[in-house]
Amino acid sequence: MRTKVGKFKTPYTRNVIVSYIKAVSELTGKSPTYRDLNQVPGPAARTIVRHFGTWSKALKAAGLRPKTNQLLKGEKTFIRKNWRKMTDKQIAEDLGVTPEVIKYYRMNYSLWKNRKGTSKQKHKADGMRIYGKNCEVCNLPITELHHIKPKSDKPDDWAILCPTCHSIITRKIVTVRTRNELKTELKPYVKNLYKTIGF
Ligand SMILES: [Zn+2]
Repeated sequence: MRTKVGKFKTPYTRNVIVSYIKAVSELTGKSPTYRDLNQVPGPAARTIVRHFGTWSKALKAAGLRPKTNQLLKGEKTFIRKNWRKMTDKQIAEDLGVTPEVIKYYRMNYSLWKNRKGTSKQKHKADGMRIYGKNCEVCNLPITELHHIKPKSDKPDDWAILCPTCHSIITRKIVTVRTRNELKTELKPYVKNLYKTIGF
């Protein structure tokens, strides 16, 4: 029969855990992963997570960055709770990952729809109120906002376009410099295009 060594669980303090993580990282020469720690004697990875909330936070306390950009469960919850109040950069700094990771997570779960402060969403809503819900060129009801002048917040520099008409401009097939050129330049091109493909 195997003898149990410690009858009681060792009460680890945060300081002990931090120096333990540092020691393991010096030993292995990298930021330890959750799995790495489970292979080394000492506080269990899940104990550490219980103390710090997330694995990333524990690593951060030890002055380390997580090895991967893979988000852990607690971190995903953190993003879902905070994406409205915090920027991607702030969240990324908190979790110790790159802002892109946060952005991709948000995009995958549609966590952007009513985010405050994104002028593009606001411009689209305002633009649709002024220019209608359909594409201004071909009348398709699926639309995007096009900035005729990049980032402009003047409605005169906006157009409500469907993805096709929009891409004709962004791919520089037709140049549109004013709202008037939507009619004089883009519309004839789109009409001709639809005729060619028999639409
Ligand atoms: Zn269109």
